[in-house]
Amino acid sequence: IKKSGILEMLTVRERLEDIGGLGKLKPWLHQKARVMADWPAARAFGVEPPKGVMIVGMPGCGKSLTAKATAALFNLPLLKLDMGSLMGKYVGESEGNMRRAIQVAEAVSPCVLWVDEVEKAFVGMGSGGEGSEVATRLFGYFLTWMQDKTKQVFVIATANDISALPPELLRKGRFDEIFYVDFPSEAERVEIFRVHLQRRKQLSARIQLERLAKATAGYSGADIESVVKEGIEQAFVEDCPTLETERLLGVIGNTHPLREVMKKKVQ
Ligand code: ATP
Repeated sequence: IKKSGILEMLTVRERLEDIGGLGKLKPWLHQKARVMADWPAARAFGVEPPKGVMIVGMPGCGKSLTAKATAALFNLPLLKLDMGSLMGKYVGESEGNMRRAIQVAEAVSPCVLWVDEVEKAFVGMGSGGEGSEVATRLFGYFLTWMQDKTKQVFVIATANDISALPPELLRKGRFDEIFYVDFPSEAERVEIFRVHLQRRKQLSARIQLERLAKATAGYSGADIESVVKEGIEQAFVEDCPTLETERLLGVIGNTHPLREVMKKKVQ
């Protein structure tokens, strides 16, 4: 299962403080971390066992980053289950893959199980078409496991498209909480620029973050990261010892956020 790329153990260095914005999700994860770290006392106090979280939202807005930073925060191993490659070509293969992946996660527990692109496994469910039955069975198996899970496997499911997710998966009781991550607001973009510029502090001491944030409406966190990288590369090539606000504004003026590029592709 490891060789096939279905389940992967990741080493993570990301920290929750490296994520700009996501102001509701971060404190919620800190609370869960406290519960997980002191589980016997929490249980004795009457706290419910943590199940996991569903994070849905736009590409490049920090879902994967959050999954990784959570494992680091919880100080637990991170297993990534790739739903795309779990779907087998042969009858019964996908279910076998899912069962084995869950067995491994339970054997490794306590751990964080990151189910990436969760919507991929359930595409075509109930459609009556090819694969519909497999998807339905897979879904039933996953739901039952989530419901009855006794091992400390904290599930983080990430998805881009909420409309592709079966409503049963979103009902309360499956996950502890569902968070939607949108494109960052202006204030959040200030934070994201700060995060990415902080790593190159000596270069960028005088940067005016607010001006950059104003100029980047519609940019994702990943778009902002690209702007900073491009600015640094340009400064290097031009032998500039510092990174200036004007240079980054120039980069912004010459690039498009992914959202716009995608729109153009569709047209
Ligand atoms: P996808 O749906 O395409 O997998 P995603 O939401 O999982 O996207 P990430 O992989 O987490 O996006 O983001 C890509 C990169 O963009 C991150 O490694 C990080 O450097 C940067 N990034 C995205 N969001 C943020 C954020 N809120 N704060 C800081 N950096 C961010």
